[in-house]
Amino acid sequence: MTERGSIIYLEDVTVDFDGFKALRNLNFFVDYHELRVVIGPNGAGKTTLLDVISGKVKPVSGRVVFGKDTDLIPLREHEIATLGVGRKFQTPTVYTNLTVWENLDLSLRRSSKGVFATLVSTLTPAEVGKVFATMETIGLAEKAGVPAGSLSHGEKQWLEIGMVLLQDPVLLLVDEPVAGMTDQETEQTGQLLQSLADRHSIIVIEHDMEFVRQLARTVTVLHEGTVLCEGSVEKIQADPRVVEIYLGRQKEQKETSAAAH
Ligand code: ADP
Ligand code: MG
Repeated sequence: MTERGSIIYLEDVTVDFDGFKALRNLNFFVDYHELRVVIGPNGAGKTTLLDVISGKVKPVSGRVVFGKDTDLIPLREHEIATLGVGRKFQTPTVYTNLTVWENLDLSLRRSSKGVFATLVSTLTPAEVGKVFATMETIGLAEKAGVPAGSLSHGEKQWLEIGMVLLQDPVLLLVDEPVAGMTDQETEQTGQLLQSLADRHSIIVIEHDMEFVRQLARTVTVLHEGTVLCEGSVEKIQADPRVVEIYLGRQKEQKETSAAAH
């Protein structure tokens, strides 16, 4: 029942790295036009979840279904990308010596044309319009001619989001976008992701609880490769198990040191 209307659906997914289970019988689904936030301590399996969806890592068991009924398990990474799964990695991979415009232009050509066309063609007026619109969306319209290398860390992240957007993803995967950003950049990133959610489904992995509160969407808490709980920000923050995994270690350390005295 739950898979009806979902853009991505993982059922009973287990990922095994030489005996270590990074995901354990994971059940996870996201609806069309949903902005889902996934949080969890280091090593919880958050990046592995994105690796499974994008096809980089293959589970040993379970189902991964995209859209109505496309089984992603047998597909390779580029095939999954072509279906409309766009991924923004943790570290920016923009071409630093090219301008903002050139980076976006290149990304659009890559998505729509072959390698030969990529080298020689110019963009159609419609495509130029699309690049402009994307620059507006990511807040870099004023920096079209600036080399990506001179952008701030936050601006580079937005540029890369723009490059992924030009591939027209149905589902956008974003891994820890605000790590290393200033407070203002973090807030702007939150606004950007919210504005994208009416046209794309988005899964955003995040660590920063302030940012998670700002997004105020459904949150999935991963722990040891499985879903610990899911719900509103208020709900997950009030869950004692979430408090335990985020604050438990600190508490344990105190108790251990107290017991030693
Ligand atoms: P998170 O993103 O939540 O911090 P990851 O999904 O990156 O966690 O990793 C989950 C666990 O799987 C970690 O313990 C990590 O060390 C392990 N892991 C991730 N990728 C590999 C790999 N390619 N080989 C072996 N272990 C891995
Ligand atoms: Mg990670």
